[in-house]
Amino acid sequence: MRSLSQGKLVLLVALFLVIFDNMSFFTNVIKVYPLIGNNLYFVISLGFVLLMFTNLLLTLVSSKYTTKPLLIIIVLISAFTNYFMNTYSVVIDDSMIQNSLQTNLNESLDLFSLKLLGYAFFLGIVPAYFIYKIPIKYKSFKQELYGKLKSIILSFVIIVILLLSFSKYYTSFFREHKTLRYHTNPTYWIYSVGKYINMTFNSGPIVVESIGDDAQITEPLHEEQKELVIMVVGEAARADRFSLNGYEKETNPLLKKEDIINFSNVSSCGTSTAVSVPCMFSIFGKDDYDYKKGIGTQNILDVISKSGVEILWRDNNSDSKGVALRVPFEDYRTSKNNTICVDGECRDIGMLVGLDKFIEKNKNKDILIVLHQMGNHGPAYYKRYPIEFEKFIPTCKTNQLEQCTKEELSNAYDNAILYTDYFLSQVINFLKPYENTHETAMIYMSDHGESLGENGLYLHGMPYFMAPEAQTKVGAIMWFGGDEMKEDIDVEKLKAYKEKAFSQDYLFHTLLKIFEVDTKLYDKKLDILYDATSVE
Ligand SMILES: [Zn+2]
Repeated sequence: MRSLSQGKLVLLVALFLVIFDNMSFFTNVIKVYPLIGNNLYFVISLGFVLLMFTNLLLTLVSSKYTTKPLLIIIVLISAFTNYFMNTYSVVIDDSMIQNSLQTNLNESLDLFSLKLLGYAFFLGIVPAYFIYKIPIKYKSFKQELYGKLKSIILSFVIIVILLLSFSKYYTSFFREHKTLRYHTNPTYWIYSVGKYINMTFNSGPIVVESIGDDAQITEPLHEEQKELVIMVVGEAARADRFSLNGYEKETNPLLKKEDIINFSNVSSCGTSTAVSVPCMFSIFGKDDYDYKKGIGTQNILDVISKSGVEILWRDNNSDSKGVALRVPFEDYRTSKNNTICVDGECRDIGMLVGLDKFIEKNKNKDILIVLHQMGNHGPAYYKRYPIEFEKFIPTCKTNQLEQCTKEELSNAYDNAILYTDYFLSQVINFLKPYENTHETAMIYMSDHGESLGENGLYLHGMPYFMAPEAQTKVGAIMWFGGDEMKEDIDVEKLKAYKEKAFSQDYLFHTLLKIFEVDTKLYDKKLDILYDATSVE
């Protein structure tokens, strides 16, 4: 093999990345700037700017010992990010990185496909092998330094000339269409990795700030029953796919028969599990929440537990995302605990098995049980329900969503909602026998929504400000049982608020109200039940 200089190899790899790994970027650019008139020249110039910028970036980190390993890592990762951006129209931002690092093997297998192998081989392994094999001719240290400097200055000058020549275009590109940048590869995922590291890593061990140390239960004297509340955290269940919210297909045949309150206008805190789940249980609202604050501060489970409530978290999703670190946690994605698993898929309904024992063991205490669902976890929606729930057909039976029609994809997704309808009604039926001994309640709230191909978007995880409502409006339901509970909470009055705009910010204070926990943290303005309760 002929040898190359370091600078040439870097430029060659940059060219490869721009041409082969930026389909998503250019597709999105052309949507905004269709290839007519001068737009064509602008888009070509954009290609060169991206090339020069990538070259500049790679040159900065190149050196005798770093060039090859770094280039190999970058082409390998970029092949994968390219695949996911092309297949699901996602962008690789910090919360997407957080999500994928928290993904377990089972979920990754859901995403596996031949097409992914093809990307990995042709766009990852082949160029990586070439980089590995090609001999690099290094010159003297001085000459190398001079060459690098030349390359950096030249790249920079070309970028400036191009920006100035199309200044009107670039102004609109950077100001009005700044989200287009999110689709560049590898620049944006590299930026996001930096952001993620900055967001996650502390200089020292995490110290969790204690909150709500004054929490105590102030039950009215006449009450004798203990609370028994099941909180279901849903997965990727978008509000507009519930027939309770007016969806034309009957996806809630069982819940509609129960005396529930369905909230039709609830917004999520994030667009991914890793953001929404810790955020909804935290004291911080959507605007204040961030990962470090969330993980560094106690949450509503800690506060309620201080007041004497017995808590149990059962998880059939992934994990509690740091929420249940200080309360009992049971993994229900394994057949060791979950008795209802078929072909590696454990059903949500399995989380109800054996709960009676937990309640019996704590019969003189207030109880909060959190069930974290598998729900509508994509893209393999068809795996999320037993065959008897395949009511809407034909269904999409692959994770290659673009191979399915919109209707097939919808059907698979809707069947999974139908299964959640069954699951929630089973939770209610589980609670009913306790109505004579406990004040019972079920709270259901999904973590975020899901895109199903609208405007070419799939799955979830879009940056919040550019995310469609499909990803941010979530299913949310409450049910209350037992005479004493209904003395406290006026269900009919509450129903008047079913269309009011609520958000996951309300969960913290609403749970305080349900358990009658007194603390100075309580904010009545963020309590869904405030206007419908008789006790202050
Ligand atoms: Zn989720």
